[in-house]
Amino acid sequence: MLTGLHIAVIGGDARQLEVIRKLIELDAKLSLIGFDQLDHGFTGASKEQLSEVDFTTVSAIILPVPGTNLEGQVDTIFSNEKIVLTEEIVNNTPKHCTIYSGITNAYLNQLVADTGRKLVQLFERDDVAIYNAIPTVEGTIMMVIQHTDITIHNSKVAVLGLGRVGMSVARTFSALGANVRVGARKSEHIARIFEMGLTPFYLDELPSNVSDVDVCINTIPHQIVTSDVISKMPVNTLIIDLASKPGGTDFRYAEKRGIKALLAPGLPGIVAPKTAGQIVANVLAQLLKEEMEGRKEN
Ligand code: NAP
Repeated sequence: MLTGLHIAVIGGDARQLEVIRKLIELDAKLSLIGFDQLDHGFTGASKEQLSEVDFTTVSAIILPVPGTNLEGQVDTIFSNEKIVLTEEIVNNTPKHCTIYSGITNAYLNQLVADTGRKLVQLFERDDVAIYNAIPTVEGTIMMVIQHTDITIHNSKVAVLGLGRVGMSVARTFSALGANVRVGARKSEHIARIFEMGLTPFYLDELPSNVSDVDVCINTIPHQIVTSDVISKMPVNTLIIDLASKPGGTDFRYAEKRGIKALLAPGLPGIVAPKTAGQIVANVLAQLLKEEMEGRKEN
């Protein structure tokens, strides 16, 4: 349980509601900032303006998945209040206060460096990334169905990258009956792709492996689907780029060639916000419990 632990939950989208639910269940004391337009009232949590919160008792600040923007502003879909996480606010918290965010940026890194607080990036964790791959794959299937006029079954699909997302994408499309080939650069990945019953190829041979593909799904956050690669694809190929912005595709060239190329960020929050929220909530609950127990022992 998190009884008595004062947590400030700042901003977010539907995913954050699952976090709030979980923390209330664990008996934490919650200050909700940026939720004034949320109809749903949470018993045991108070909606507050940023200026009303007593940060001197706050042991954890929970930011939404994107964290802040480069000016420190935190987005929320539940309020028009402009919320900026400043150095002054963080300096008011106890020294042990930890900031939890999905990802970080230059602003957040500087903020924690200047204030000496700890930042936990949830999406850097393997467990979160692997659980999150599940709704990502479901969103990818949705997009492929929406943007093609053929079945996935018996289609030719190239998956680029065998990381946490790439492995789940490749396995699931194969299970749906697609002929899946996977591009990677490490020999151990090539071996794993072979072991999975799929067709491996080295990424430096990418151009010669796309000449007959129906769908190309990129998971590599690096310019990989270049104009040279796109020029070898059939004109009716669909490119779905899952890599974080700006993706790994030359979108300008794809458009010029008349090939449909779609950057598809944030699929878990779009197709399954409840599940995506629960993934974050479960890991957060575990981390907060460990943090609280660690402090009791010291
Ligand atoms: P990951 O486990 O780190 O996998 C990344 C893959 O890219 C690895 O196979 C890695 O291979 C490869 N790679 C990286 N740089 C490369 C380069 N320069 N050349 C060739 N291969 C390279 O990451 P992940 O968790 O699977 O996530 C993949 C991407 O999807 C990330 O950008 C992530 O932010 C994004 N994502 C998007 C969504 C969405 O909704 N669209 C959801 C979740 C994640 P090596 O092992 O050889 O380095």
